[in-house]
Amino acid sequence: MLYNLFRDVVVLSLTFIVNFLIVSTFWGLVEMFQPIHWQWLAQLMNYIRVPYTPTNVIIVLSALTLLVPCLLHRTWFMQRYLCWATNCQKPQGEAAERLNQAMSIVCRKAGLDISDYNLYVCNTKVLNAFAIGNNNIAVTLPLLSNMPIREIAGILAHEMGHIQNRDTNTALLTSTMSSFGNFVIRIYSYITLVLQIISFIPVIGWFTAIISWFFLIQIWLFQFLMQLPLHIVTMFSSREDEYEADLYACKIGLGAELFNGLSYISQGEAQMGFAARLLSSHPATRQRLERIRNYVNSHDTVV
Ligand SMILES: [Zn+2]
Repeated sequence: MLYNLFRDVVVLSLTFIVNFLIVSTFWGLVEMFQPIHWQWLAQLMNYIRVPYTPTNVIIVLSALTLLVPCLLHRTWFMQRYLCWATNCQKPQGEAAERLNQAMSIVCRKAGLDISDYNLYVCNTKVLNAFAIGNNNIAVTLPLLSNMPIREIAGILAHEMGHIQNRDTNTALLTSTMSSFGNFVIRIYSYITLVLQIISFIPVIGWFTAIISWFFLIQIWLFQFLMQLPLHIVTMFSSREDEYEADLYACKIGLGAELFNGLSYISQGEAQMGFAARLLSSHPATRQRLERIRNYVNSHDTVV
């Protein structure tokens, strides 16, 4: 428990620092070309007794950009925004039907109301599922279309375990902050693109080419920095959280289904490249499978 708290504090602070750096370069750029004179900002800074200097304006604006959405992170709007930012959509047609069938098995077993949860489908090639915020579960399209309904239910039960154990709160905050860092990186990529197009014009072109390099270096640096908190999460990623989410699935009676679903995913992972396996969000599948099997077996003999 204390270990998890320590890990969360480290990850959240690092994510804040990295994204603060990135966002502050953006506001710095704005301030350079068009000095910011906003009435509400002047009033706010006067209220917190910070002198209205260009540097302070950049610092306060950057902090607000990251922290205000974090205060709103529990709202319906921010969670929808994050699902959108992670490329998830509301399921349609047959996908929706399969997902609802699987989810109703989970909710019936766990005694939960299915209408309290939002389900999403991500159109990526990997077999994966993840929980976002306090009532959203997303599964990838290959997982949904290739796996039997009962096994999908097993995987959903694990994700429901994360939601019920409140493991998703930190992830929600880090992804809220990172989405703004990513937004700035995207703006810089567009600026670089425009500068590179202009760089074909003689004389002015040399100038824009130099500036576009300046932006490119920044983009590389920022993309590297953005990976840092994520690496720390995986490094310290508590296997306990995974075991606990598995245990939840077992307790509501979907252990065997989770076992089969997880075996299916791990077979898919075995065919993945090394890099894809590194990025896969659920490590140490073999140990998890062993624990689930032990649980299911020991409870079968009792019954
Ligand atoms: Zn998990």
